[in-house]
Amino acid sequence: MSASLDTSFFGHPRGLSTLFFTEMWERFSYYGMRAILLLYMTAAVTAGGMGLSAADGAAIYGAYTAAVYMAAIPGGFVADRLLGLRRSVFWGGVLIASGHFCLAFGVTWLFYLGLILIVAGTGLLKPNVSAIVGTLYSSDDQRRDAGFTIFYMGINLGAFISPLVCGWLAQSDSFKGVLSSMGLSPEHSWHWGFGAAGIGMTLGLVQYSLGGRKLVETPVVHPATNPALLWAQFAACCVAVFGLLYFLWDYRDGVVLVGTFIFAAWFVAQTDPGVERKRAYAVMILFVFAALFWGGFEQAGSSLNLFGDRFTRNEVFGISFPSSFHQSTNSIFLIIFAPIFAWLWIRMGKTKTEPSSPVKFSLGLLFVGAGFAVIAVAARVSGANGDGLVSPMWLTVVYLLHTIGELCLSPVGLSTMTKLAPARLAGSIMGVWFMATSVGNFVGGRVAGQFETFPLPSLFGAVCLTTVAAGLICLALSPTIKRLMGGVN
Ligand code: GLN
Repeated sequence: MSASLDTSFFGHPRGLSTLFFTEMWERFSYYGMRAILLLYMTAAVTAGGMGLSAADGAAIYGAYTAAVYMAAIPGGFVADRLLGLRRSVFWGGVLIASGHFCLAFGVTWLFYLGLILIVAGTGLLKPNVSAIVGTLYSSDDQRRDAGFTIFYMGINLGAFISPLVCGWLAQSDSFKGVLSSMGLSPEHSWHWGFGAAGIGMTLGLVQYSLGGRKLVETPVVHPATNPALLWAQFAACCVAVFGLLYFLWDYRDGVVLVGTFIFAAWFVAQTDPGVERKRAYAVMILFVFAALFWGGFEQAGSSLNLFGDRFTRNEVFGISFPSSFHQSTNSIFLIIFAPIFAWLWIRMGKTKTEPSSPVKFSLGLLFVGAGFAVIAVAARVSGANGDGLVSPMWLTVVYLLHTIGELCLSPVGLSTMTKLAPARLAGSIMGVWFMATSVGNFVGGRVAGQFETFPLPSLFGAVCLTTVAAGLICLALSPTIKRLMGGVN
């Protein structure tokens, strides 16, 4: 049956169910591991952690999460030229699962190898699984946007469940008790959390292999004439980039800045002068604001995670819970609010009051800024409290505001980017979009690196001021950006 006539998964092609669950399990593994990563690195050695300072832990965390999203660029390239989408997703999943299992052992070199494997695997899986979703629908299929919304729900279902599972295994006293009663070391609980992430990805892989038959075979878009040579060149490039970053680690801010600039210039240079070039400039302006947004938002796993661990009274109705449980809040709010936002935009569209995408970007930044205003106050309250702890409601409100911001910017950004890029750059534009998240994660990691050295109300206050100022500038620039977008909303 042709995919456009297939309505067997909630009115959508059957293949969507396979991709929904594959991405759900991949995000389960990513967010479950991420929820405990920085807490593990900064926990004392006696508590089974790595005993790193917040500055060192956050630097590794920032570099790792930035690399995960940056790997989407080579990952898209491999799919387009060498492996094809379906096989890239499969091998990406294999690398990711192996990476998480490396982390389950508690051996330092395996820890770093595990991070590298997850980066490479996510680069192969994440952009390409999204691209396969696109292949399920013809370009004029009315169900396309709804399909991506269902897919985004899969992402957040995985991201909601995993911090609860991995966090409970890694941090809870009850699981430590189970380990002790079995004669195992309770301080190894972290590694059970990392192992659970690996099991999640393995389940996703089994499911993907069984359901793969439902997917239409996608040929390699631009097959390489000499695959072996291209693989060798590709591997050499990866080693060169890795080596460059390793040796220039102390200058990483400059490397990221210059690298991003070269990437942006490369993208713009591929467009034809005229409307296409103007739209590319609009992409670049929106890119800067998106990177600033993610720089605040992605602190969920770093500075906000540390705040939840060290300065929050983690109990409800007298029952205590592990600090990593806060990592589920964003996803549960997203699952609740995504349909409401979809409805709101459609309704506003009907009355011609729907804000343009630059205005939505600006709203995203203002909401993320509002979240940081709340956490800055919470940090002040914590300083004034005898035990230094604040109610978990503070972080809940922060994540609520951040989720509203995410809903204004993230799905909107993805769809605007795909509309602004000419069809032949459809793959590169995915790279541009994930690069904004990558830069955001890097910046967020740098901010979190100041967690122990800077007064927290000022640190969070500075993030608030930066994002609010960026939001206002974006609002002021929105007529100009709209003009550059040349007819795209
Ligand atoms: N939460 C979404 C995901 O995991 C978006 C992440 C991002 O682009 N920063 O896919």
